[in-house]
Amino acid sequence: EDTSPGNVVDRIIHEVYTLCRENRAGELADYIPELAAVEPDEFSLCVATSDGYVYRAGNADTEFTIQSISKPLTYGLALADHGVDAVARKIDVEPSGEPFNEISLDPVTERPRNPMINAGAITSASLIQGADPAERFERLRRCYSLYAGRDLELNQDVYASESRTGHRNRAIGHMLRSFDIVSGDPDEAVDLYFRQCSINVTCRDLALMAATLANNGVNPLTRERALAPDLVERVLSVMTSCGMYDAAGDWITQVGLPAKSGVGGGVLAVLPGQIGIAVHSPRLDSHGNSVRGVQACRELSRTLELHFMHVT
Ligand code: GLU
Repeated sequence: EDTSPGNVVDRIIHEVYTLCRENRAGELADYIPELAAVEPDEFSLCVATSDGYVYRAGNADTEFTIQSISKPLTYGLALADHGVDAVARKIDVEPSGEPFNEISLDPVTERPRNPMINAGAITSASLIQGADPAERFERLRRCYSLYAGRDLELNQDVYASESRTGHRNRAIGHMLRSFDIVSGDPDEAVDLYFRQCSINVTCRDLALMAATLANNGVNPLTRERALAPDLVERVLSVMTSCGMYDAAGDWITQVGLPAKSGVGGGVLAVLPGQIGIAVHSPRLDSHGNSVRGVQACRELSRTLELHFMHVT
């Protein structure tokens, strides 16, 4: 038997995959037809090391929309465009404990509580620089592509549905405009947010995005920089406190890694300096997190001793 470290990791990933595959709990997102129509049993688990090796189990090349996993990436680009202090005047970094799409601002600071709820994410989108909406989207798409190490594309059907049904997000955009958090046209900021949520990724892409964050902002395969090191630290901090919807406390206790999930069924988790983890499985729990995604990360964290408070 080959007991090299790589082989042991590969065996553990396949064991976790086999264990979680039996779990059919949860429901597909159904607020747009495209998400309700995906294959519910789809499941993939990838681990990418910060030197670029990708372990994979399941169908790691199936495409799905990134959805809320886009939020930390857009926040990172907004930080790069304006600096930490200017962004902090618009978006706070406090966990909200509220549902992600709550139409609210912190009553004292009159800011969105963090960049991982929609109010904060729409504000981040409004801060992306560019001459016109097309250029702003192109900058985001290129930025996400740097993390993934390949050219990512918009899913037109999902974008059209997000835009057709996104009244609540438009309400949030206009509320932000009325408090002068968003300056300029709030509908343009919300449209950019719909587009960023509708970018297609694979589980392998998400693992490399996570590994890029683990590798201080440099994609381990292409060696291209997606984000400056000091901004990586801030993005990972916000993912730690606010990344898993209103289950962030449970996640950090049980898994202990900065992470972000999306209603497309993706979960991305980062062990800084070491590895990126990605799971895709579209059945969601009541918080909107992938059921198998949470379970697989919990099992991997326990077996590989990844919890960042773990002392050996
Ligand atoms: N486009 C969705 C929304 O803003 C994304 C939700 C998510 O992944 O949390 O409602």
